[in-house]
Amino acid sequence: MRRTNPSHGRKSIHANLKPRALLEEAPDLIGVWRADIITLFPDAFPGVLGTSLIGKALKEGKWQLHTHDLRSYGDGKHKNVDDTPAGGGAGMIMRPDVLGNALSDILKRRGPCPIIYMSPRGKPLLQARAKQIVSSSGVIILCGRFEGIDQRVIDHFQIEEMSIGDYVLSGGELAAQVILDATVRLIPGVLGNDDSTKDESFSNGLLEYPQYTRPSVWEGQEIPKVLMSGDHTKVANWRKTESEMLTKKIRPDLWGKYKS
Ligand code: SAH
Repeated sequence: MRRTNPSHGRKSIHANLKPRALLEEAPDLIGVWRADIITLFPDAFPGVLGTSLIGKALKEGKWQLHTHDLRSYGDGKHKNVDDTPAGGGAGMIMRPDVLGNALSDILKRRGPCPIIYMSPRGKPLLQARAKQIVSSSGVIILCGRFEGIDQRVIDHFQIEEMSIGDYVLSGGELAAQVILDATVRLIPGVLGNDDSTKDESFSNGLLEYPQYTRPSVWEGQEIPKVLMSGDHTKVANWRKTESEMLTKKIRPDLWGKYKS
Protein backbone atom coordinates (compact mmCIF):
# COMPACT_ATOMS: atom_id res chain seq x y z
CA MET A 1 0.00 0.00 0.00
CA ARG A 2 1.24 3.46 -0.84
CA ARG A 3 1.93 5.61 2.17
CA THR A 4 1.04 9.26 2.02
CA ASN A 5 3.92 11.67 2.23
CA PRO A 6 4.39 12.54 5.95
CA SER A 7 4.92 16.19 5.05
CA HIS A 8 1.62 16.33 3.19
CA GLY A 9 -0.57 19.09 4.56
CA ARG A 10 2.09 20.40 6.91
CA LYS A 11 2.21 24.15 7.14
CA SER A 12 5.51 25.94 6.78
CA ILE A 13 5.63 29.32 8.41
CA HIS A 14 8.17 32.01 7.55
CA ALA A 15 8.64 35.06 9.73
CA ASN A 16 8.04 38.10 7.58
CA LEU A 17 7.78 41.66 8.81
CA LYS A 18 7.09 43.37 5.49
CA PRO A 19 3.64 43.59 3.88
CA ARG A 20 3.34 41.40 0.79
CA ALA A 21 2.74 44.37 -1.50
CA LEU A 22 6.17 45.85 -0.70
CA LEU A 23 7.92 42.55 -1.12
CA GLU A 24 6.45 41.99 -4.56
CA GLU A 25 7.11 45.45 -5.92
CA ALA A 26 9.35 45.26 -8.96
CA PRO A 27 11.83 48.13 -9.41
CA ASP A 28 10.45 51.22 -11.13
CA LEU A 29 11.92 51.84 -14.58
CA ILE A 30 12.24 55.61 -14.52
CA GLY A 31 10.60 57.39 -17.44
CA VAL A 32 8.97 54.20 -18.75
CA TRP A 33 5.16 54.15 -19.22
CA ARG A 34 3.81 52.38 -16.14
CA ALA A 35 0.59 50.50 -15.39
CA ASP A 36 -0.33 49.69 -11.79
CA ILE A 37 -3.11 47.13 -11.39
CA ILE A 38 -5.09 46.67 -8.20
CA THR A 39 -6.71 43.24 -8.18
CA LEU A 40 -7.75 40.35 -5.97
CA PHE A 41 -6.31 38.02 -8.63
CA PRO A 42 -2.73 39.15 -9.32
CA ASP A 43 -2.00 35.76 -10.93
CA ALA A 44 -4.27 36.81 -13.81
CA PHE A 45 -1.45 39.18 -14.92
CA PRO A 46 0.34 39.63 -17.23
CA GLY A 47 -1.98 37.04 -18.83
CA VAL A 48 -2.33 37.72 -22.52
CA LEU A 49 -0.18 40.86 -22.10
CA GLY A 50 2.82 38.57 -21.61
CA THR A 51 2.51 37.23 -25.17
CA SER A 52 3.59 38.35 -28.63
CA LEU A 53 5.00 41.83 -29.30
CA ILE A 54 3.43 43.42 -26.22
CA GLY A 55 4.91 40.69 -23.99
CA LYS A 56 8.30 41.12 -25.65
CA ALA A 57 8.13 44.87 -25.10
CA LEU A 58 7.28 44.23 -21.43
CA LYS A 59 10.34 42.01 -21.03
CA GLU A 60 12.49 44.61 -22.80
CA GLY A 61 11.28 47.36 -20.43
CA LYS A 62 9.47 49.41 -23.11
CA TRP A 63 6.53 49.53 -20.70
CA GLN A 64 6.12 48.28 -17.13
CA LEU A 65 3.40 46.44 -15.25
CA HIS A 66 3.09 46.46 -11.46
CA THR A 67 0.39 44.20 -10.03
CA HIS A 68 -0.86 44.83 -6.49
CA ASP A 69 -2.76 42.22 -4.52
CA LEU A 70 -5.68 44.04 -2.89
CA ARG A 71 -5.88 41.29 -0.27
CA SER A 72 -2.58 42.47 1.22
CA TYR A 73 -4.28 45.78 2.09
CA GLY A 74 -7.25 43.91 3.66
CA ASP A 75 -8.50 44.54 7.15
CA GLY A 76 -7.78 42.40 10.23
CA LYS A 77 -6.65 38.84 10.61
CA HIS A 78 -8.78 37.69 7.67
CA LYS A 79 -7.62 40.52 5.38
CA ASN A 80 -11.21 41.49 4.72
CA VAL A 81 -11.82 43.50 1.54
CA ASP A 82 -15.61 43.52 1.16
CA ASP A 83 -18.85 43.95 3.07
CA THR A 84 -22.61 43.82 2.51
CA PRO A 85 -24.31 46.64 0.58
CA ALA A 86 -25.70 49.51 2.66
CA GLY A 87 -29.48 49.51 2.21
CA GLY A 88 -29.54 45.76 1.54
CA GLY A 89 -29.39 43.71 -1.63
CA ALA A 90 -27.47 40.85 -3.11
CA GLY A 91 -23.70 40.36 -3.13
CA MET A 92 -20.79 42.20 -1.58
CA ILE A 93 -19.21 45.61 -2.13
CA MET A 94 -15.47 46.32 -2.06
CA ARG A 95 -14.61 48.47 0.95
CA PRO A 96 -13.55 52.10 0.50
CA ASP A 97 -10.98 52.05 3.33
CA VAL A 98 -9.15 49.04 1.83
CA LEU A 99 -9.22 50.45 -1.71
CA GLY A 100 -8.23 53.88 -0.39
CA ASN A 101 -5.16 52.46 1.36
CA ALA A 102 -4.08 50.63 -1.80
CA LEU A 103 -4.56 53.71 -4.01
CA SER A 104 -2.79 56.11 -1.62
CA ASP A 105 0.13 53.73 -1.26
CA ILE A 106 0.55 53.35 -5.04
CA LEU A 107 0.12 57.08 -5.72
CA LYS A 108 2.81 57.82 -3.13
CA ARG A 109 5.20 55.47 -4.90
CA ARG A 110 4.60 56.56 -8.49
CA GLY A 111 3.12 60.09 -8.40
CA PRO A 112 -0.15 61.35 -9.92
CA CYS A 113 -1.66 59.73 -13.03
CA PRO A 114 -5.13 58.85 -14.35
CA ILE A 115 -6.96 56.29 -12.20
CA ILE A 116 -9.40 54.03 -14.03
CA TYR A 117 -12.03 51.76 -12.53
CA MET A 118 -13.16 49.01 -14.91
CA SER A 119 -16.94 49.24 -14.77
CA PRO A 120 -19.93 48.34 -16.97
CA ARG A 121 -21.27 51.77 -16.01
CA GLY A 122 -18.26 53.59 -17.51
CA LYS A 123 -17.80 55.18 -20.90
CA PRO A 124 -16.65 52.63 -23.47
CA LEU A 125 -12.97 52.90 -24.37
CA LEU A 126 -12.42 54.74 -27.65
CA GLN A 127 -9.22 54.79 -29.71
CA ALA A 128 -8.83 58.54 -29.04
CA ARG A 129 -8.83 57.93 -25.26
CA ALA A 130 -6.29 55.11 -25.65
CA LYS A 131 -4.01 57.63 -27.42
CA GLN A 132 -4.42 60.14 -24.57
CA ILE A 133 -3.67 57.52 -21.93
CA VAL A 134 -0.49 56.48 -23.66
CA SER A 135 0.70 60.09 -23.74
CA SER A 136 0.52 60.36 -19.91
CA SER A 137 3.02 58.74 -17.53
CA GLY A 138 0.81 55.65 -17.23
CA VAL A 139 -2.33 54.54 -15.39
CA ILE A 140 -3.60 52.93 -12.24
CA ILE A 141 -6.36 50.41 -13.01
CA LEU A 142 -8.73 49.14 -10.39
CA CYS A 143 -10.28 45.74 -11.14
CA GLY A 144 -13.65 45.26 -9.46
CA ARG A 145 -15.13 41.99 -8.21
CA PHE A 146 -18.41 41.06 -6.50
CA GLU A 147 -21.02 43.83 -7.01
CA GLY A 148 -18.39 46.52 -7.49
CA ILE A 149 -16.85 49.24 -5.30
CA ASP A 150 -18.05 51.84 -2.76
CA GLN A 151 -19.01 55.08 -4.58
CA ARG A 152 -16.99 57.24 -2.17
CA VAL A 153 -13.69 55.89 -3.53
CA ILE A 154 -14.71 56.95 -7.05
CA ASP A 155 -15.67 60.44 -5.84
CA HIS A 156 -12.68 60.95 -3.53
CA PHE A 157 -9.98 59.99 -6.03
CA GLN A 158 -11.93 61.36 -9.05
CA ILE A 159 -11.70 57.98 -10.71
CA GLU A 160 -12.66 57.56 -14.36
CA GLU A 161 -15.05 54.65 -14.91
CA MET A 162 -14.33 52.78 -18.13
CA SER A 163 -16.27 49.97 -19.80
CA ILE A 164 -15.32 47.52 -22.53
CA GLY A 165 -18.93 47.04 -23.65
CA ASP A 166 -22.57 46.69 -22.66
CA TYR A 167 -22.40 43.34 -20.88
CA VAL A 168 -21.41 42.30 -17.35
CA LEU A 169 -18.18 40.41 -16.66
CA SER A 170 -17.51 38.71 -13.34
CA GLY A 171 -14.41 40.82 -12.71
CA GLY A 172 -12.35 43.70 -14.07
CA GLU A 173 -9.17 41.71 -14.84
CA LEU A 174 -10.03 40.77 -18.44
CA ALA A 175 -11.32 44.29 -19.07
CA ALA A 176 -8.07 45.78 -17.72
CA GLN A 177 -6.08 43.59 -20.11
CA VAL A 178 -8.23 44.78 -23.00
CA ILE A 179 -7.58 48.42 -22.07
CA LEU A 180 -3.86 47.82 -21.62
CA ASP A 181 -3.52 45.94 -24.91
CA ALA A 182 -5.26 48.76 -26.80
CA THR A 183 -3.04 51.34 -25.07
CA VAL A 184 0.41 49.75 -24.88
CA ARG A 185 0.48 48.85 -28.58
CA LEU A 186 0.44 52.60 -29.29
CA ILE A 187 3.72 53.20 -27.41
CA PRO A 188 6.35 53.91 -30.08
CA GLY A 189 8.58 50.88 -30.61
CA VAL A 190 6.19 48.31 -29.10
CA LEU A 191 4.82 47.02 -32.41
CA GLY A 192 7.39 46.06 -35.02
CA ASN A 193 6.08 48.70 -37.42
CA ASP A 194 4.71 51.93 -35.91
CA ASP A 195 2.89 52.68 -39.19
CA SER A 196 0.48 49.84 -38.48
CA THR A 197 -1.25 51.92 -35.78
CA LYS A 198 -1.65 54.93 -38.10
CA ASP A 199 -3.61 53.17 -40.80
CA GLU A 200 -6.10 50.95 -38.98
CA SER A 201 -9.76 50.91 -37.92
CA PHE A 202 -10.80 53.98 -35.85
CA SER A 203 -7.49 55.84 -36.22
CA ASN A 204 -9.03 58.07 -38.93
CA GLY A 205 -12.67 57.68 -37.85
CA LEU A 206 -13.34 54.86 -40.35
CA LEU A 207 -13.25 51.06 -40.27
CA GLU A 208 -10.39 49.39 -42.10
CA TYR A 209 -10.71 48.37 -45.78
CA PRO A 210 -10.63 44.62 -46.67
CA GLN A 211 -7.15 43.05 -46.69
CA TYR A 212 -5.78 40.22 -48.86
CA THR A 213 -2.60 38.18 -49.17
CA ARG A 214 -1.26 35.29 -51.25
CA PRO A 215 -2.36 32.97 -52.84
CA SER A 216 -3.80 35.28 -55.50
CA VAL A 217 -6.69 32.85 -56.13
CA TRP A 218 -8.29 30.96 -53.24
CA GLU A 219 -11.46 28.86 -53.43
CA GLY A 220 -12.10 30.45 -56.83
CA GLN A 221 -11.91 33.98 -55.42
CA GLU A 222 -9.38 36.45 -56.80
CA ILE A 223 -7.67 39.33 -55.01
CA PRO A 224 -9.17 42.60 -56.38
CA LYS A 225 -7.16 43.53 -59.50
CA VAL A 226 -6.37 47.06 -58.34
CA LEU A 227 -4.33 45.68 -55.39
CA MET A 228 -2.12 43.80 -57.83
CA SER A 229 -1.71 46.80 -60.19
CA GLY A 230 1.28 48.39 -58.43
CA ASP A 231 -0.40 51.81 -58.81
CA HIS A 232 -0.18 53.32 -55.29
CA THR A 233 -2.61 56.16 -55.95
CA LYS A 234 -5.24 53.79 -57.31
CA VAL A 235 -4.73 51.44 -54.34
CA ALA A 236 -5.08 54.32 -51.86
CA ASN A 237 -8.27 55.55 -53.54
CA TRP A 238 -9.76 52.05 -53.63
CA ARG A 239 -8.99 51.53 -49.94
CA LYS A 240 -10.53 54.87 -48.96
CA THR A 241 -13.72 54.14 -50.90
CA GLU A 242 -13.98 50.63 -49.38
CA SER A 243 -13.40 52.06 -45.88
CA GLU A 244 -16.14 54.62 -46.39
CA MET A 245 -18.61 52.09 -47.81
CA LEU A 246 -17.99 49.60 -44.99
CA THR A 247 -18.29 52.23 -42.27
CA LYS A 248 -21.53 53.56 -43.75
CA LYS A 249 -23.00 50.05 -43.88
CA ILE A 250 -21.73 48.50 -40.63
CA ARG A 251 -21.35 51.52 -38.31
CA PRO A 252 -23.72 54.34 -39.30
CA ASP A 253 -22.90 56.00 -35.93
CA LEU A 254 -19.21 56.33 -36.89
CA TRP A 255 -20.11 57.38 -40.42
CA GLY A 256 -22.31 60.21 -39.08
CA LYS A 257 -19.43 61.52 -36.95
CA TYR A 258 -16.94 61.19 -39.81
CA LYS A 259 -19.14 63.18 -42.18
CA SER A 260 -19.85 66.01 -39.70
N1 SAH B 1 -22.99 45.28 -10.00
C1 SAH B 1 -22.24 45.82 -11.09
C2 SAH B 1 -21.49 44.72 -11.86
C3 SAH B 1 -20.35 44.14 -11.11
S1 SAH B 1 -19.46 43.01 -12.09
C4 SAH B 1 -23.21 46.52 -12.05
O1 SAH B 1 -24.33 46.10 -12.17
O2 SAH B 1 -22.80 47.50 -12.69
C5 SAH B 1 -17.92 42.88 -11.21
C6 SAH B 1 -16.78 43.70 -11.75
O3 SAH B 1 -16.48 43.31 -13.08
C7 SAH B 1 -17.01 45.20 -11.82
O4 SAH B 1 -16.74 45.82 -10.61
C8 SAH B 1 -16.05 45.63 -12.92
O5 SAH B 1 -14.76 45.90 -12.40
C9 SAH B 1 -15.97 44.42 -13.83
N2 SAH B 1 -16.77 44.53 -15.05
C10 SAH B 1 -17.93 43.89 -15.31
N3 SAH B 1 -18.41 44.21 -16.53
C11 SAH B 1 -17.54 45.08 -17.08
C12 SAH B 1 -17.51 45.79 -18.32
N4 SAH B 1 -18.45 45.65 -19.25
N5 SAH B 1 -16.47 46.61 -18.55
C13 SAH B 1 -15.50 46.77 -17.62
N6 SAH B 1 -15.48 46.13 -16.42
C14 SAH B 1 -16.49 45.30 -16.14
